[in-house]
Amino acid sequence: MPEGDIVLRVARRMDAALAGQRLVRGELRWGRLGDTDLAGAVVLGNHPVGKHLLTRLDDGRTLHTHLRMDGSWWITRAGEERGADRAHRVRAVLGTERWTCIGRLLGMVDLVRTRDEHLVVGHLGPDLLADDVDLEECGERVRAQRERPIGAVLLDQTVVAGIGTLYLAESLWAHHVHPLRPAREVTEPVCATARHLMLRSADSPLPTATGENGPGRDKHVHGRAGRPCRRCGTPIVEIQVGPPGMERPAFFCPHCQPA
Ligand SMILES: [Zn+2]
Repeated sequence: MPEGDIVLRVARRMDAALAGQRLVRGELRWGRLGDTDLAGAVVLGNHPVGKHLLTRLDDGRTLHTHLRMDGSWWITRAGEERGADRAHRVRAVLGTERWTCIGRLLGMVDLVRTRDEHLVVGHLGPDLLADDVDLEECGERVRAQRERPIGAVLLDQTVVAGIGTLYLAESLWAHHVHPLRPAREVTEPVCATARHLMLRSADSPLPTATGENGPGRDKHVHGRAGRPCRRCGTPIVEIQVGPPGMERPAFFCPHCQPA
């Protein structure tokens, strides 16, 4: 699932194509929004909030989208869509005279008044990638979860927003913290590290949790169960964290990150 770094990359690319421009296409293929036509509105900007994206328009409305598991925004020159904008998986098309942004497999599409954005993102904790995020506060919010395992807490977007299973694994590995350690015991700056890793990834030519690109070099632990820890050589282990029915994988090194 795309995490904060990917959503920030998307917002920057969408800004490059749309910000300050008038839409000539604004189609939403999402249930009751199917009749909506956003053409004519000027895009003020694209603002990531955790894993959510808010596309603000000059008519007082905000398009709220979420990539969920497999969503993506594909951007091409206007007139060069080659039918991609008509594929059945497309949920939104935002186009200017020069560029067409095609939202595929989006997991959520909403249209709200800009002054009502809190209705769609108000439940989220502080956005770890926001310019003004208070990392001390984030650490306190995490520790206030008391006995909950840190792995589950970092995935809980109502505590802090932006981390998914990738940066959960990489941030805890960086600080030698076991994913099942009670949150109240975590004094290591895992939120600051998650922010640092995600911003570095967003600024890199390709997404990377390690600062390196290239096959097999862009992650330290995530998705590497059974393969040697890059620090000590011990095989990486995968466990599940989160409430019953909503378990998500957490990868860690049992030697570097003891229980
Ligand atoms: Zn290790």
